[in-house]
Amino acid sequence: MVDLQAQYQHIKAEILEGFEQVLNSSAYINGEAVKELADNLSEYLSCGNVIPCGNGTDALLASLMALDLKPGDEIITVPFTFVSTVEVIALLGLKPVFVDIHPETYNMDETQLLKVITSKTKAIIPVHLYGQCCNMEKICEIAKTKKIYVIEDNAQAIGANFQFSDGTIKKSGTIGDIGCTSFYPSKNLGAYGDAGAIFTNNEELAHKIRNIANHGQCKKYLSDFVGLNSRLDSLQAVVLNTKLKYLDEYIDSRNEAAKFYDNAFSENPNIKIPKRVEYSNHVFHQYTLHIGNKRDIVKNKLSEAGIPSMIYYPYPLHLHPAYKYLNYKIGDFPISEKMAKEVISLPMHTELNKEQLNYISNTLNEIV
Ligand SMILES: *Cc1c(COP(=O)(O)O)cnc(C)c1O
Repeated sequence: MVDLQAQYQHIKAEILEGFEQVLNSSAYINGEAVKELADNLSEYLSCGNVIPCGNGTDALLASLMALDLKPGDEIITVPFTFVSTVEVIALLGLKPVFVDIHPETYNMDETQLLKVITSKTKAIIPVHLYGQCCNMEKICEIAKTKKIYVIEDNAQAIGANFQFSDGTIKKSGTIGDIGCTSFYPSKNLGAYGDAGAIFTNNEELAHKIRNIANHGQCKKYLSDFVGLNSRLDSLQAVVLNTKLKYLDEYIDSRNEAAKFYDNAFSENPNIKIPKRVEYSNHVFHQYTLHIGNKRDIVKNKLSEAGIPSMIYYPYPLHLHPAYKYLNYKIGDFPISEKMAKEVISLPMHTELNKEQLNYISNTLNEIV
């Protein structure tokens, strides 16, 4: 699905040099490289505050912890996402409330938000799934009139651009009140271990989140808030500083591979290629096709031909045993349930060559 080894070979010298500096400095946590990463990301994203942390799940957790919520407060998100998005809500004793997704973009259906917003709703967490932004203009408009926060789960879309109807462009993750990302190794900007970050232009929230990520300490050994141990390793920051320089090139490579796939499948009536929306570009964390109810057979046949594929995500979250207590049932989110059964993601990374792309797409066209 990804070829991190081949990518590493291109940047090996830079990474090893950076590692050497960290090892010589022995500032292993929150060292110089971590500060540089915060500055570099601030500049890349045009965002006032970037707070590196331990992983993407912690980024979401620390963000929610900064909002002064109380048990039972409601947070709206989608059931078609990685479990972290919902896990952090549940961990804090808050109530996850779901809305379904759009059948073509797989992102939050913002037209359903008003139906579920109550006096207890405190935040919306849109997930920019597969690398394309949700309709953030609409989502933020609704949030503003209802005075609720927007926390973007930007784990899959770092580097994507959102365009407002007046032409203004903002980077994904900097549009709502807070943006969260993951630098899990296979993410578009991936570390060589766990890592994550939080973005915000709100100084007050930034101050609080920065402290929360370090045990709630405002000064050493004095905690203002209940916090977390969620700091970033300097070695991971070296990897991220190096890769950030190439992120736009990486996004271009992914788009080239996506274009190749698009052309290969555009004439096949049984394959629906990813829709592009007018308000966001696509950074293709995943290249995901809608191929209907024969999906599992197709996946097996691809595997027999030596082609990896993945299902993101095979079980919508409202049907996980862990979230049964929310009392949702089969049929509550029909689009999420359908897509969990009918989509498939193909290999997508920065090192795909024409031969591989040809083999993958010819094989899939023969199967479907
Ligand atoms: C990867 C991911 C996360 C969690 O990130 P970790 O760094 O693995 O904790 C959260 N949300 C989404 C949508 C993700 O893809």
